[in-house]
Amino acid sequence: MNLDRTLKMGMVGGGPGAFIGEVHRKASRMDGGVELVGGAFDINPRKSKQMAKELILDKKRCYGTYTEMIEKELKLPVGERVDFVAVTTPNNWHFPIAKALLEAGFHVMCEKPMTINVAEAKALVQIVKKSKCVFGLMHNYTGYPMVKLARDMVRSGKYGKVRKIVVKYPQGWLATALEKTGQMQAAWRTDPKQSGGSGCGGDIGTHAENLAEYITGLKITDMCSDLTSFVKGRKLDDDVNCLLKFSGGAKGILHASQISVGEENNLTIYVHCETGSLEWHQEHPNYLYVREMGKPEHVYKRGNDYIGKLSPAAARGTRLPSGHPEAFLEAFANNYRNFTDTIRCKLTRTKVDPIVNDFPKVQDGLRGMQFLETLLASAKSKQKWTKFKK
Ligand code: NAD
Repeated sequence: MNLDRTLKMGMVGGGPGAFIGEVHRKASRMDGGVELVGGAFDINPRKSKQMAKELILDKKRCYGTYTEMIEKELKLPVGERVDFVAVTTPNNWHFPIAKALLEAGFHVMCEKPMTINVAEAKALVQIVKKSKCVFGLMHNYTGYPMVKLARDMVRSGKYGKVRKIVVKYPQGWLATALEKTGQMQAAWRTDPKQSGGSGCGGDIGTHAENLAEYITGLKITDMCSDLTSFVKGRKLDDDVNCLLKFSGGAKGILHASQISVGEENNLTIYVHCETGSLEWHQEHPNYLYVREMGKPEHVYKRGNDYIGKLSPAAARGTRLPSGHPEAFLEAFANNYRNFTDTIRCKLTRTKVDPIVNDFPKVQDGLRGMQFLETLLASAKSKQKWTKFKK
């Protein structure tokens, strides 16, 4: 997959003051070989151009809208034209923008949750298939080396069958009506039209669901949920509590919250198997805690040679030696590296190695939306336990 040129990147979203667009810009270029060449960065065309100017992009490729970007980029020769586009807008825009890009032949890296309902997600699965383009979904927590190590240890069967999964994702930043102050990120996240049917569930619950299934390889089959909007006047849930059943008989608890005062981004997962347990914390991501029956606790530390022997994927996702912490940006970059290497394979007609083909895709996005629809249906129901909606 030796492509003799850089991949050209475009972006939709990520205008002035936006959060995740800037992370995409940094992470996508961490390993070189990717060049940001243009974009439609803001819902306001004037701000989009202002952002492009700040990024010192060619004026001709600073677009007012994504439709203008698609139209004008298609006029450029392949190699000069954008190869892939990062979609980093609020949720309601993901589907129309990804659809238009894929139908025009651009590869897409899309933010989560993938769409705002299952119908859109199912349609996108078909659009991706028809387009033959590469589609990545930014569930960035799968990119951490120690998450990959946990996945490889659990799935090796070394500790027997998985019995219990506890995944929690508490945050505290929406403990007050921040949306009423005009704070940009809070405003759209609490608006059902832009966010979808579930607030906290869509924003961070989907990360927890994706992480549990990624590490264990098990699928959620049944859910029993309880949703609350603690902040007065808020239209969407800000707290999620959920019991889970998984394929293979494992049981689980998923809790996500945005009103847990003092919590920052405390995504944590515990996987309890027949003879051992694993524990990983997003806020201390370089360590994986492993406990085996009758033995002292082991702390596996990223960057050591023994990690690579247990998990080549964890070694591939490591840039710095042990003791030099890596975190959010590097994990994000790992998903980008696998996504862009897959595009390079496509362009050079090279077979994609499974270690490269390791990033969340459109099917993960569909599961995320099915998780949310089941969450909402269960929360509204009297019987509570609800089959995972397919
Ligand atoms: P934000 O409000 O900070 O930024 C959104 C940007 O998109 C703004 O610049 C806005 O003007 C622009 N925009 C809106 N509609 C547009 C359109 N039609 N065309 C062009 N630009 C448009 O939002 P954010 O916090 O960066 O979140 C954006 C997306 O990223 C959401 O889907 C969110 O769920 C996701 N997200 C993911 C992670 C993660 O860890 N993977 C973290 C944060 C946000």
